Amino acid sequence: MKLLEGKNVIITGASRGIGKGIAQVFGQHGANVAFTYSSSEAPALELEKELLDMGVKAKAFKSNAASFSESEELVKQVLEHFESIDVLINNAGITKDNLLMRMGEEDFDKVIEINLKSVFNMTKAVQRTMLKQRKGSIINMSSVVGVKGNAGQTNYAASKAGMIGFTKSVALELGSRNIRCNAIAPGFIETEMTDKLDEKTVQGWRDAIPLKRGGSPEDVANACLFLASDLSAYVTGQVLNVDGGMLT
Ligand code: NAP
Repeated sequence: MKLLEGKNVIITGASRGIGKGIAQVFGQHGANVAFTYSSSEAPALELEKELLDMGVKAKAFKSNAASFSESEELVKQVLEHFESIDVLINNAGITKDNLLMRMGEEDFDKVIEINLKSVFNMTKAVQRTMLKQRKGSIINMSSVVGVKGNAGQTNYAASKAGMIGFTKSVALELGSRNIRCNAIAPGFIETEMTDKLDEKTVQGWRDAIPLKRGGSPEDVANACLFLASDLSAYVTGQVLNVDGGMLT
């Protein structure tokens, strides 16, 4: 059964990793997918082709999620291709890890702008369309780190915790218009973002996870599929942990 047949979706940061996994699963479920990247043009165009070959509409856009004006422009352009926006997935994110003692102001600001302000930018940009439709699902890619904190990631943890507060507030503001807003808190998902970590740290994490493995982009994509589809029609303001039991 295709759960997203004909739904129009925007995913930020889908040239690789979790975003790409979401785009692939959504395409398989019949969704038309507009997605963004910041610099990886070739992989983005490859993904666009892969989605078009599935028989859905697809379009890659170079757009900096941290920019308010680029986000507004992006949504305008998406609406020229798709007549509605049913689902927004705020997935774009970066890390710039360091102990607080060594973290520079620039690395704090950059992580907050790309991970958190982007969510404000994109949610505001789709809000009018979703309000007119009286329907929409917004999914914000937070992290277990936003729930429990992590040494060496004060900037990242603050951005991801901020996303949870934003999610709950949007759910309260827009629920009466049938617009749902939920967050996903992935644990350790094996992507280029986590490739940066040393193998010893990674093995330590795997050992500490009840399911004894790192997650895949598809594991996160399947949770997004639930939150994007009508299967979750009565679910809003929630944080869904996709972490192999890490926070249990
Ligand atoms: P990733 O492999 O590093 O991919 C990040 C994606 O975001 C890329 O497509 C990248 O595009 C895009 N991006 C970066 N900066 C952007 C910007 N300013 N504007 C638009 N797009 C931008 O990361 P990932 O592991 O898939 O993570 C995806 C999301 O899940 C992030 O929000 C991350 O914080 C969250 N998350 C990940 C994990 C994990 O274990 N991997 C755990 C919890 C939460 P380019 O390729 O063009 O740079």
